[in-house]
Amino acid sequence: MTKLADKIWLNGQMVAWEDAKVHVLTHALHYGTSVFEGIRAYDTPNGSVGFRLRDHLIRLEDSARIYGIKIPYTLDQMIAACKDTLTANGLKSAYWRPVAFLGENGLGVTPKGDNIKVDFAVAAFPWGAYLGEEGLQKGVDVCISSWQRAAPNTIPTAAKMGGNYLSSYLIGKEARGRGYAEGIGLGTDGRLSEGAGENLFLIMNGKIHTPPVAASILGGITRDSIIKLARADGIEVIEQALPREMMYLADEIFMCGTAAEITPIRSVDDIPTRAAGPGKVTKRLMTLFHGLFNGTTEDRFGWLDPIQAP
Ligand code: PMP
Repeated sequence: MTKLADKIWLNGQMVAWEDAKVHVLTHALHYGTSVFEGIRAYDTPNGSVGFRLRDHLIRLEDSARIYGIKIPYTLDQMIAACKDTLTANGLKSAYWRPVAFLGENGLGVTPKGDNIKVDFAVAAFPWGAYLGEEGLQKGVDVCISSWQRAAPNTIPTAAKMGGNYLSSYLIGKEARGRGYAEGIGLGTDGRLSEGAGENLFLIMNGKIHTPPVAASILGGITRDSIIKLARADGIEVIEQALPREMMYLADEIFMCGTAAEITPIRSVDDIPTRAAGPGKVTKRLMTLFHGLFNGTTEDRFGWLDPIQAP
């Protein structure tokens, strides 16, 4: 495993990167029974901050709740674990990866009893632009995947669960194999859902359209932040089911997520968007979003959680 940081928080202790190990018969390794988060810490003029750290860990608890997984730490303990991992690694900005997973519980698919072992770990390490710096500037080329997102009432997409990422793996692998930066999944009804690891926004006639939570998406924290920032800026946001062809007709399109932040899309299935790169509304939202971290956007929603003074 390439070393990305010095220390990892594992089951209540800060251990050396090399010692953060689990057994090969760990339940989650076989059956995908992990819930996890991706969260960013930013180095701002007011010091190091976590972006919606609490909201992300509430989503982690919600993911676990859907599966009846009992994480043996409170929300505040998990927040403290994230903050400690950042400082223990001497980082000011980072990507946090908290993960709770069914550990050594035998290989029965549904472990029995009241003492199901749930492990919890937090890693923090530097992570730049997920789809590349150039992608942020010029926009990326994406394709509609031949793989659809999980149907409702199969594997719940509201849970950020290890096993859900088999869908993302297939969508991303197919897209990259065909030379695209990312793949977009459709729902089983053929309507737009989301990217392999990002939510989707289309801009048409100055209004923003995004698929609703019912469209087999993960309810992204970045998605929610963008909706709030846009509305506060007087831009109309409509959450509605969208047919695939809207991707070919939109003026501007972007994807968003913790790792991808706001990544403009410049073409879909080789058809350029009308803006053929980051358009006016996308650029405005990028300025507002990144402004939270460079001090030019006021933190009016209380999203920045201070960790270290500058
Ligand atoms: N959809 C999927 C499938 C994802 O993996 C992610 C990344 N967590 C997102 C959307 C965006 O979510 P967020 O903004 O909370 O990172």
